[in-house]
Amino acid sequence: TLDQSNRRATAPAVTRDGVTVTVGSNVGSLEDAVLGARYGADLAGLVRTEFLFSGRTEPPDVDEQEALYRQLADAFGGRRITLRTLDAGGDKPLGYLPHSAEPNPFLGVRGIRHSLVNPGLLRDQLLAIVRVARDLPVSVMFPMVTTVAEVVEARGMLDDAIKATGDGVPTGLEVGIMIEVPGAALKSGVLASYVDFFSIGTNDLTQYTLAAERGNHGVAAIADPFDPSVLRLVDYVCRTAGDRVTVGVCGELATDPLATAVLCGFGIRELSVAPRAIGGIKDAVRATDSALGATVAAQCLAAEDAAQVRRLLDRANS
Ligand code: PEP
Ligand code: MG
Repeated sequence: TLDQSNRRATAPAVTRDGVTVTVGSNVGSLEDAVLGARYGADLAGLVRTEFLFSGRTEPPDVDEQEALYRQLADAFGGRRITLRTLDAGGDKPLGYLPHSAEPNPFLGVRGIRHSLVNPGLLRDQLLAIVRVARDLPVSVMFPMVTTVAEVVEARGMLDDAIKATGDGVPTGLEVGIMIEVPGAALKSGVLASYVDFFSIGTNDLTQYTLAAERGNHGVAAIADPFDPSVLRLVDYVCRTAGDRVTVGVCGELATDPLATAVLCGFGIRELSVAPRAIGGIKDAVRATDSALGATVAAQCLAAEDAAQVRRLLDRANS
């Protein structure tokens, strides 16, 4: 019945050997938030706030952002929302900012780099986020982090926003970064002492690890997140993050049920996926045994290529 399937959708996803894996929704619009909640998301694991900033002639002010973040939180009925700060860059210029064309926008001023050279935008966004975090469970996440200095600077601006809104640090506010640059993945042991959580963005991590631009059909066969090199980085991040820092995956790889066992095997305990994939991924978690996942994960790390990884995972699932 609808009631039963709804209960199954919203129930937590627990592996056969009793490990709970949080399954969140990726959100790129208000509709996504409504859908994600309806399909049983445990939280919003990645809100791509770009949708607020693009296709307009001036940036949203603090009040407008606050109102929208509250609407998103409402849609999730009090469950945690993870607001990623603006991930703009040369590949998607904003009409109201001076824009200098870059020959390689994916290697240029994007993500947190863009925010730190446009501090007014980041300041307003952090103010809005902190206001909402005063009465709702909110996580803030910085995209495209490469260096410790970027995290320190961004956290400094967050501290300023906290001071400006008064009353100390909001109780439920957690601070994290995307791990989507290979250099950040390889420094995760150091970066861990600056944050509460990591979210691995396998879309960008794949493009940067394999030097194959995402969305470029000519190199689509190379840009495969199942490539053992990408999996090695995911495994490395899990092993070096330490016990205090939670590690999730929010790239497309998390949305593929073929990857669930290997990700659980690495120790990933949060997956954030496209709204419509939530039920399927929760079921994939329920079909997984994390100890068996660890065995298959070790085999995947030793594989020659993505095709061999897929064969190993197909066999493990059957
Ligand atoms: C990623 O890079 O994997 C990611 C989740 O971020 P985006 O797809 O928005 O770049
Ligand atoms: Mg990304």
